[in-house]
Amino acid sequence: MRELRSALGSDLEGSSEHLNRRLRELRDAGWEIPSNKDDRQLPPDTYRVEVKGAKLWIDEERAAQQAFRPSQRVRRIVLDRDGSRCRVCGIGVGESYPGEPNAKARLTIGHRVPQERLRSRGAADDIDNWRTECSRCNETVRNELPDPEQYDEVVAEIRQLRTAELRQLSSWMQSGERSRSRLDQAYDRARNLSHNEREQLMSYLQRTLGES
Ligand SMILES: [Zn+2]
Repeated sequence: MRELRSALGSDLEGSSEHLNRRLRELRDAGWEIPSNKDDRQLPPDTYRVEVKGAKLWIDEERAAQQAFRPSQRVRRIVLDRDGSRCRVCGIGVGESYPGEPNAKARLTIGHRVPQERLRSRGAADDIDNWRTECSRCNETVRNELPDPEQYDEVVAEIRQLRTAELRQLSSWMQSGERSRSRLDQAYDRARNLSHNEREQLMSYLQRTLGES
């Protein structure tokens, strides 16, 4: 990190956000650069270049890369289509992550099939390959998933469900999100209580249930 800063010069002093943005651009272009956050073996403030991607400083490579960038129009269409929810974990814009009331979700759009793979197959990039992802899922998901779900495999799994479960699934699919039961909503509210209030609530529950 120190070497990067000095290489980039004084105009970047104190601007780690700028540096992070550059790293994101490289990662979007197929570079795999784990940090200490991805690999605990790495010392803090250290990055390791594992895979080189498109050379963004060469005009043709950057142009080829940008052809795969979504336009504002595509972004809007995909976000609307997906009901402004992460298609991976289901979180909505501005909602907080379970157990982390201070971490608010930011939404972006990402490829279901990584663009590198599309390119190597000579496949066109169509809107069905874009999906809404929260920034957290967007960072981890692309390289982790071998390939997106296949229709036949999903249906094989769904055939195992009981009729009541099928009915539930059908209604979730139609409304575009998993509906939250009264119990889910109570849980959402309860886990946003302060630490002391949660303790208080837990002993209330245990007393009520005769568990203590
Ligand atoms: Zn997510």
